[in-house]
Amino acid sequence: RVKAEGRGTHRFFEASMNALVRERRLMEHDLHQAVAHGEMRLVYQPQHQLATRALIGFEVLLRWQHPVRGAVSPADFIPIAEECGAILTIGAWVLSQACREAAGWTNPLSIAVNVSAVQILAPHFIQSVDDILRETGLAPERLEIEITETALIRDPERAASTLRDLKALGIRLAMDDFGTGYSSLSNLRSYPFDKIKIDRSFIQAVDSNSQAAAIVRSVLGLGRGLGLQVLAEGVETEGELRFLHGERCHAAQGFLMGRPAPIETFAAHLHPSEAQTAVSSKAA
Ligand code: C2E
Ligand code: MG
Ligand code: MG
Ligand code: MG
Repeated sequence: RVKAEGRGTHRFFEASMNALVRERRLMEHDLHQAVAHGEMRLVYQPQHQLATRALIGFEVLLRWQHPVRGAVSPADFIPIAEECGAILTIGAWVLSQACREAAGWTNPLSIAVNVSAVQILAPHFIQSVDDILRETGLAPERLEIEITETALIRDPERAASTLRDLKALGIRLAMDDFGTGYSSLSNLRSYPFDKIKIDRSFIQAVDSNSQAAAIVRSVLGLGRGLGLQVLAEGVETEGELRFLHGERCHAAQGFLMGRPAPIETFAAHLHPSEAQTAVSSKAA
């Protein structure tokens, strides 16, 4: 009887494993076709300078509308796309779409694009970025590439050389999710970053939690000492914003200032002089 039950459990386990594997294969298959099927789109989240509250640019975030599953979160599909290689096609599409979009703005705001380790370590990455900049005509200084610390771990030497090549193209580099990875401090010295993005987990309740406040203050000190800009991620409350402003944090993004949205939402900021002209010609 015990034996029979054991076998049953085993069969059940095997069946659910098979279901998981099948599910995974389907996801991978769908990811490989998602760009060609027009299921991917980009949303843009505003980034503001704190001293002036001026809009300085946007982070570009990917959205996948699956025909059956509906909206799938990048936190769920990016790791799968990285494992099955679909991220190479998807990532190239993100970069070229975002650069083409930004190149069309009257206002030369910057765009920050997330790039995964798989892309950084791919053989022709630098060449493809250079091609995209040429094709779209976007000034390299307007492009910032965001990389997480975990992306550097797999092949630190190669990552370092790729990051130096990106810098040589005139692109800026931001370390994303700072504080959540490994050996943050030595990474800041070994790689040519321009900016630190403090992870949302440290920003949350920074105005009411003295430990969070101490951590954020020390990252800001680190940024000043190393000559790096610091941007706070995931600012949701006025209290958090006031704290960051008081501590002379350079920039911030978060739901308080704006949620990620289709670029049309920000049209007035992209072509300010045209909006001005429209207003004055109406007045005339
Ligand atoms: P990330 O690069 O750290 O992006 C910030 C995430 O925080 C975004 O989630 C954004 O919507 C969310 N966020 C921004 N402000 C707030 C806030 O005030 N409160 C809260 N609760 N959340 C906020 P999203 O869009 O779901 O993206 C998740 C992650 O997926 C990104 O984290 C990034 O690592 C990855 N990702 C997104 N787009 C791309 C892409 O095009 N390529 C690659 N390789 N990864 C991407
Ligand atoms: Mg990011
Ligand atoms: Mg982040
Ligand atoms: Mg993240």
